[in-house]
Amino acid sequence: MVLPIVFYGNPILRKKCSDINFSHYKKKDIYRLINNMFETIHKVKGIGLAAPQIGKNIKLFIIETPLLLDNNKKNYKKYKEVFINAKLIKIFGKEYKFNEGCLSIPGVYSTIKRKSNIIVEYCNQYGEKKTKCFTGIKSRIIQHEYDHTQGKLFIDYLPYKKRKLIKKIIK
Ligand SMILES: [Zn+2]
Repeated sequence: MVLPIVFYGNPILRKKCSDINFSHYKKKDIYRLINNMFETIHKVKGIGLAAPQIGKNIKLFIIETPLLLDNNKKNYKKYKEVFINAKLIKIFGKEYKFNEGCLSIPGVYSTIKRKSNIIVEYCNQYGEKKTKCFTGIKSRIIQHEYDHTQGKLFIDYLPYKKRKLIKKIIK
């Protein structure tokens, strides 16, 4: 089922999400929600989606994106992963700029500076705990989606003047 996306201005996008307690959820409900989230990003052609963006105040986000394996443009591999109760343990490496957008702020794209590497502690959809280091585009998308679970949006990184201008455009 494709879920309706929550847009900028909805207060849920500004709330800190709570942990998912696996013993309080039926596994089948978690799987259904995750499947619906994947269906939703396929429909809107997104590469990541966090639970607040579909109106749920829980620490869950999903990523699905083609990754370029080499410079031969046809050689893509799909990267797909579910992050539950993600915690950023470390953000490090060189800062670099990348053009970001967000399904909840349609039509707005902006160059955002973030560090290149992260170490994340999280659970997958089966509740198995993992600690992994991510670099490149994966690290970038995880940081963006993780921010959603903290009530933070990519436009928060922009200088005040630019942010004000974007808010005006959105309104
Ligand atoms: Zn977003």
